Amino acid sequence: MNVLVVGGAGYIGSHCVRQLIAAGHRPVVLDNLVFGHRAAVDSEVPFYSVNLGNESEVGKILRKEKIDIVMHFAAYAFVGESVTDPLKYYFNNVAATLHLLRCMIGSGVKKFVFSSTCATYGIPDKMPLVESMPQAPINPYGQTKLDMENALKSFASAYGLSFAAFRYFNAAGAAEDGRIGEQHNPETHLIPLVIDVAMGKRENVQVFGTDYPTPDGTCLRDYVHVDDLSRAHIAVFDKLQTPGAALFYNLGTGTPTSVLEVIHAVEKVTGKKVAYVTSPRRAGDPPALYADSTKAKTELGWEPKYTTIEPIVATAWKWHSEHPTGFKKN
Ligand code: UDP
Repeated sequence: MNVLVVGGAGYIGSHCVRQLIAAGHRPVVLDNLVFGHRAAVDSEVPFYSVNLGNESEVGKILRKEKIDIVMHFAAYAFVGESVTDPLKYYFNNVAATLHLLRCMIGSGVKKFVFSSTCATYGIPDKMPLVESMPQAPINPYGQTKLDMENALKSFASAYGLSFAAFRYFNAAGAAEDGRIGEQHNPETHLIPLVIDVAMGKRENVQVFGTDYPTPDGTCLRDYVHVDDLSRAHIAVFDKLQTPGAALFYNLGTGTPTSVLEVIHAVEKVTGKKVAYVTSPRRAGDPPALYADSTKAKTELGWEPKYTTIEPIVATAWKWHSEHPTGFKKN
């Protein structure tokens, strides 16, 4: 398949590009490089730096590259920022995505893989989460993703678009060969921050809340390896052959891991002590979020290779320790 990977220079997108190549597909990357890293994509992969609002340019790329499927990873994903600047999130995560979809439908490209999120569930009353549970996001980021899920349903029935929306839990880790990894600016994610402390780049990490109703008082999350996520995106291709397919899948390991357990895993993997300070709860953080991914397992034959935190952290550590300045050359 010829696959347009929108946001293919970002964290999850760039890993997906490499998994596509490994599975025998031909990825083409479209990324405006606002957050993506050009160096995260090998030079032999066709690369276009274009904004999604430029429909005529995107249409040309769809035709020239004979695109069969579009994967869309280009979204803003800072929860706090989405609260203070929701316009930015609606413009990028909704409006820009609508430009892309209008262009696809106009060009007759009707297979779409969409990055959604467990943030669409809000604060659930039951765990683990299954796809049919109520969705009530508590921040604009989650709301923009839910809005797009709903738009996609309408497009499937009106235009015969086939799509899969994957609700990610906490994407983590890096390519096993250490070639690419996670680098956000600013970095807000727990694992890279804890690794920074182990590397001596930060003095300590803040633990946001130690009074949650969880075994050690810190938040529980479901960390899922970025290559496992990517493999699910490819496993769904067969199902997208059915016109109008509207598919939703949780992607997580189902293993809840606390903030303190992440810190201890980094200490174990790196052999370094990690200093942390306890801080108040971060606004908008549910106490626990973990997935029931039975649907992806039974329908797609998806089986995450990584199911526990330490080996995931080990891949992240390989990337960070071998690239102390990230994608920037020393
Ligand atoms: N977290 C923390 N300190 C930090 C960053 C994150 O304690 O400096 C916690 C956060 O409250 C959450 C978990 O780590 O419970 C994962 O947060 P992250 O931002 O990595 O991902 P999110 O769950 O927000 O998507």
